Amino acid sequence: MCLPTHLTEVKDAIRYSPMRTYKYQIREHPQNKRLGNLLDDLCDVHNHFLKLENRYYRRYGKYAGRFRLQPHLTKLLQRTKKHWAWIPRDTLDAVIIRLHVAWERFFNTPGTGKPKFKRKGRYRSAKFQTGYKLQDGRVRLSFKSWDESSQHLKFDKRWFSFHHHRDWHGTVRYIQILRDSVGTFWLYVVTDDTSKEVLPATGESVGADNVIQGMDLVYSQTKSGMKDAFLTLNTGEKIQSPQFLKQSLNELRNLNKAVSRKVKGSNTWWRAVRQLARLYRKVNNQRKDFHWKLADTLCKRFDTIVLETLNLEGMKRLWGRKVSDLAFYQFVEILKYKCQKHKRLLKQVGQWTTTSKPCSNCGHKNENLTLSDRQWTCPRCGSHHDRDVNAAINILRAAWGPVVETM
Ligand SMILES: [Zn+2]
Repeated sequence: MCLPTHLTEVKDAIRYSPMRTYKYQIREHPQNKRLGNLLDDLCDVHNHFLKLENRYYRRYGKYAGRFRLQPHLTKLLQRTKKHWAWIPRDTLDAVIIRLHVAWERFFNTPGTGKPKFKRKGRYRSAKFQTGYKLQDGRVRLSFKSWDESSQHLKFDKRWFSFHHHRDWHGTVRYIQILRDSVGTFWLYVVTDDTSKEVLPATGESVGADNVIQGMDLVYSQTKSGMKDAFLTLNTGEKIQSPQFLKQSLNELRNLNKAVSRKVKGSNTWWRAVRQLARLYRKVNNQRKDFHWKLADTLCKRFDTIVLETLNLEGMKRLWGRKVSDLAFYQFVEILKYKCQKHKRLLKQVGQWTTTSKPCSNCGHKNENLTLSDRQWTCPRCGSHHDRDVNAAINILRAAWGPVVETM
């Protein structure tokens, strides 16, 4: 019996990476152009080595790996790619390591594609493991520059200030510089902090049924003017999702029109593109905010939270934008993190457990239940059910049965 326990422990360790990331906005400054150049050069590095890997793959049917590519990079920096030498070596290495991991995944995980070439401006982040310094709301990066007098590269250390709105905890492992689609630079500080804020036990458990299971209902419901719930709890509560994308749809349409009216590549075109990206960023932030707050409320009220595992990809293909707007996957990820932080138990009931058909009162399986039945009455015991609340009760019950994956 020793082995399974050991295996679950390993699984947990992978799921909850002990790192914690803090995100800070780097203040606008003309010098930030240097960060942009950095990312553009790293994009070149990525494409160059991907080309090599592709050639290697065509010839030998495997990938070269970082331990062949890193010595090759050393030669390149001395010969044909001297213009990359201003970037710290560990940042360049990180690009190769990322490629290595991507190829490893391609070979070992079925269904994953080969790594792809990146268009200019699409390389998003740079990693710094050594040679940086964090001090008084500023970060120092050690670039290099060519010194004419000594004919050598010398250090060219540059400071960038960031909006230090909160402190980080734990030891800093590495930092990352990220550029988002709007063109704003962000500093990610990754620490090994694993502290927990254990919340007092409430003795309450909850089963939650989410909207996507009844997605086909959504459209018939919208016609009749009723709203669908993001989550339905077994207590009968229905939590509505504010559908942020839908709210901004008009504005989005206008901005898209504005982009298409402009001459592609012109200054006004770029401005319109950035405005559009800014709106998307806002919608994402609103959605994320809603998810964090909801996860927080659930963690404060309940000790155990039970959800249903979902085939989200299939649902998305079926229903398109609506499901993306609900972004249920992101919510589950946030909830996982919160449950770990506050020492709550999160369980997921397997995908093939029937949760909507059995009556939660007597267990009678209503085979006649169609997807459009919102309410139904059990033919055996006569109790009246709301479809989602009934499912939520069944989900909570199933969590203590045999078909459960603990998370
Ligand atoms: Zn019944």
